[in-house]
Amino acid sequence: MTASGKCDIKSLQLDELQSLAQPSYRARQITDWLYKKRVNSFAEMTDLPQVLRTKLADDFSFEKIEIMRILGSTDTTRKFLFRLSDRNLIESVVIPASPALYGSPSDRRTICVSTQVGCAYGCKFCASGLDGWKRNLRPNEIVNQIMAVEKEGGERIDNIVFMGMGEPLANYDNVIRAIQIINAPWGIGIGARHITISTSGLVPEIRKLAEQPLQIRLAVSLHGASDEVRSQIMPVNRKYNLSTLLEACRYFTSRKKQRITFEYILIAEVNDSDEQARKLAKQAHALDAKINLIPYNNVEGLDWARPSPNRQKRFLAILRAAGVRATLRREKGDDIAAACGQLRLQTERAVINA
Ligand code: SAH
Ligand code: SF4
Repeated sequence: MTASGKCDIKSLQLDELQSLAQPSYRARQITDWLYKKRVNSFAEMTDLPQVLRTKLADDFSFEKIEIMRILGSTDTTRKFLFRLSDRNLIESVVIPASPALYGSPSDRRTICVSTQVGCAYGCKFCASGLDGWKRNLRPNEIVNQIMAVEKEGGERIDNIVFMGMGEPLANYDNVIRAIQIINAPWGIGIGARHITISTSGLVPEIRKLAEQPLQIRLAVSLHGASDEVRSQIMPVNRKYNLSTLLEACRYFTSRKKQRITFEYILIAEVNDSDEQARKLAKQAHALDAKINLIPYNNVEGLDWARPSPNRQKRFLAILRAAGVRATLRREKGDDIAAACGQLRLQTERAVINA
């Protein structure tokens, strides 16, 4: 339900539209207007009978997402700050030509989308959780981030990562509904293998996702290779510890016949020791997982730091020496606070302080 108390038209699946509009080909006409011609109102759906247009407008909302700010980075990463219909703020980051990130080497434009306003999980390095959780995004609000960015840039997005603000698996149903629209030929039409969900490690939902038919990819935010270190960084580890989490990862890998990725933010003196690297290598090896190392990005109000370039390289070298596939991500968009949650926080605080 939206602020108006109605369901939004872009939260519906094709079969749901078919049961609403007869004859059933009307549903395909509606999805063509929404996702192919990309109109902004029911009135523009000119091949639908007027009574149907009026009925749709009476029964469903047609929300827009408003671009508040776009920040360009020197490395061509762009960050979008959006305002939702209830005035809450969310962010998306667009990273062009990032072959080393996710998916196949031909991938061009990647969008990092948000799934919640704020986040309840309170990881110690992350700006998204600093002000707590406000609400879940609805499917149309997730789909609209992609459509707004495509419209603004005049180019299609090839790759989607659910790595913006929020914990996607804590908003499981809406995220899956959005993915179905993003993936469907009648919707945005992006292949499941070009869609990655990133999670802080919600074990029951990882297992549920493993049983879901969509071949979407999974990235797991590890950020610590022992319970002691991980619990210090991520409170969620006290609920689902490492062995429970790795067991769920194994289940996902074997069910989906798919490799997962471990995300690991390198934080100086916190999780960047040789011992952590060796433990991490073992865990990744056992699951044939890839590792994506991300140097910590400074967040206002937090006093952690990124390790020196030499330390980062040594950590990477230990992983590679153990035969694990690992990359060290050059942190993109550092100058525009591209780690998700940072821009919203800056803006909200600026508004509060004004
Ligand atoms: N909640 C999910 C989805 C992404 S969380 C999860 O935890 O996996 C936000 C992502 O932004 C992190 O995984 C990380 O890749 C990035 N991020 C957040 N804060 C960061 C920081 N201080 N430095 C570097 N990356 C950060
Ligand atoms: Fe939430 Fe992910 Fe940030 Fe943790 S890292 S606080 S789970 S958004």
